[in-house]
Amino acid sequence: MPVPDDSLFMRRALDLAALGLGYTRPNPMVGCVVVGPDNTILGEGFHQQYGGPHAEVNALASVGDQALLRQSRVFVTLEPCAHHGKTPPCADLLIAKGVPEVIVCNDDPNPLVAGRGLDKLRAAGVRVSTGLLAEAGRQLNRRFFTFQEKKRPYLVLKWAESADGFLAGPHFQQVQISGPQAQLLTHKWRTDEAAILVGTRTALHDNPHLSARDWPGPQPTRIVLDKNLALPPPTMCSTALSLPSSTRIAPAPARPTSTT
Ligand SMILES: [Zn+2]
Repeated sequence: MPVPDDSLFMRRALDLAALGLGYTRPNPMVGCVVVGPDNTILGEGFHQQYGGPHAEVNALASVGDQALLRQSRVFVTLEPCAHHGKTPPCADLLIAKGVPEVIVCNDDPNPLVAGRGLDKLRAAGVRVSTGLLAEAGRQLNRRFFTFQEKKRPYLVLKWAESADGFLAGPHFQQVQISGPQAQLLTHKWRTDEAAILVGTRTALHDNPHLSARDWPGPQPTRIVLDKNLALPPPTMCSTALSLPSSTRIAPAPARPTSTT
């Protein structure tokens, strides 16, 4: 039987990681595959929910014959953690289980990890390599990497526009521009992202629910930018009370104007 390409195992780990989309935030999505000495997958797992066990914990626990871990390679989509967060460090677990080799997709830019996980593994004698399918991993966790590296949220700009360039009727009245499939996609996107934001006019004229009703998954935090508090409370998303995540934030005090 031909030996499978290592990228196949990492691809599988990335596919597993993607199952956590929407549920792991603000943590990244992570998948993990344990490959035995005969190049078959012995176990796998992913980070399913924020605060829950990490991918490595789930993958290692899924291996029936734990003794085989001493001859196995572990493929993981993000550098194993080395710090005590909500769970103990995964680097310690891999070392304790005697895993001889760890293959990583992306280094973790989080300052709490940032190379410490890899250093810890190497110091314990584990063979470590990184960068396998790195671009695919960065694309999968683009929200996490954008926040860690640019200190801002990853943004999706979404609007529906008629062929002649209009978003609404002549008096701001709602016009159905897109179809049911676009509606489904929009609701899926809402479950994918942590928050959804609209401006004053959209809240005033559309009064949208901003919830994900047509797709299963977590609800986004709903945000209305209303810098002059122009929206009367009953108008400002009349659905605000129906979901617990809405917050109204008063504008910051005006900054003194420069005289220079
Ligand atoms: Zn971990």
